[in-house]
Amino acid sequence: MNEYDSNRIYDTVKKIGFYKTEKYEDANCYLLNTCHIRDKAKEKVYHEIGRVKKIFRSKKKPLVIITGCVAQAENQEMLKREPYIDLIIGPQSYHKINDKILDHIDNKKRIEETEFDAISKFKYLSKIKNEIGKISSFLTIQEGCDKFCHFCVVPYTRGPEYSRPFKQILDEAKYLSENGAKEIILLGQNVNAYNNEGYKLADLILEIEKFPQIERIRYTTSHPKDMTEDLIEVYKDSKKIMPLVHLPIQSGSNKILKLMNRKHNISEYLETFNKLKEINSNIEFSSDFIIGYPGEDEKDFNSTLDLIKKIKFINSYSFLFSPRPGTVASNLKIISKKILIERLEIIQTQLFQNQIMMNKSLENKTINVLVENLTEDKTEVFGRSEHMTSVIFNGNKSDIGKIIPVKIKTSNRSTLFGEKIIKPNQKVA
Ligand code: SF4
Repeated sequence: MNEYDSNRIYDTVKKIGFYKTEKYEDANCYLLNTCHIRDKAKEKVYHEIGRVKKIFRSKKKPLVIITGCVAQAENQEMLKREPYIDLIIGPQSYHKINDKILDHIDNKKRIEETEFDAISKFKYLSKIKNEIGKISSFLTIQEGCDKFCHFCVVPYTRGPEYSRPFKQILDEAKYLSENGAKEIILLGQNVNAYNNEGYKLADLILEIEKFPQIERIRYTTSHPKDMTEDLIEVYKDSKKIMPLVHLPIQSGSNKILKLMNRKHNISEYLETFNKLKEINSNIEFSSDFIIGYPGEDEKDFNSTLDLIKKIKFINSYSFLFSPRPGTVASNLKIISKKILIERLEIIQTQLFQNQIMMNKSLENKTINVLVENLTEDKTEVFGRSEHMTSVIFNGNKSDIGKIIPVKIKTSNRSTLFGEKIIKPNQKVA
């Protein structure tokens, strides 16, 4: 979501004459869009500012703006602690960024703007063309969260759930499709809770797939509680929804899910898994796991491991629990670091093994790859499988933006390597 936000911020500040530079030392404005999910997010911001200070030690100080969830969570505190920061702008206030910059330039006032105002933000952003469309383009449809999992800062930094108007999203999808996007990834902190005047995520997917240029649709991140029947049915009805369901479960133990305030249990999750597998056995699941949540004992940990083996999750993320200030879990007793690290290693080994097995099973098979770009050395092309795995093969520039059948020859944990299938009477350049 931060990548999408950064691009929309860029589309906005261009209007007042700010353009990207690849060279830090040339910049006269430095904007850091921050994420609060990972550990030590706040300290990373101060560290980064320290780096900028060094670069500009003997030059005119650039305008320094901090945006994103760390800005929202820390607000005034950051202005107090670091005089080098000029503006603090929270994620629901991006639409005000140009006014705030111009105000600062005129009055030299240091400004903090962290109001929750998603309605005005999206109203404003819908008038600014999303010009950073790529073959695979992000599109935010929903922000914020009302679920209040005990470990998570999102409800505090992004505010309550807000779903963008249905028509506004379709307009943006249309624009992206007419400007080269072949895949749309619908984004939201709680994307499957999308609900705008009765229109749900399922309706959006079925409407967006009507744009002929769009070949693939994905969505992230979802909550198990919001995997409603209409969304499950989409996997029967849609020709463009991809068969990878990213559905964070966090733990395989009902006791821990309850402590986390996740509002779902393992049997509900398995029910969704079984229903989707019944519709299409090619559907795979990926997930997020928090290892060592306070209260997790050996039995809870083994339940998580068993679940990973049972579902055979691919492409998943796993993290050690680390407390976030202001959340309920920040006051809980932390498990010893040594145990945490051992558990994480076991989980990651299993997840990696699932991924390796999945990739191995594709060797000597032909899969469809949406080509996104040339590889860095420009000798081959890079794309993604239907399950989001990276694929590298012997294509050329003209394959970019197309879905190409590729025979997989070899693989490692993260990447498939293959050869383009040439049809019998197809001319090759
Ligand atoms: S549902 Fe997701 S975004 Fe919402 S509080 Fe829980 S982890 Fe955070």
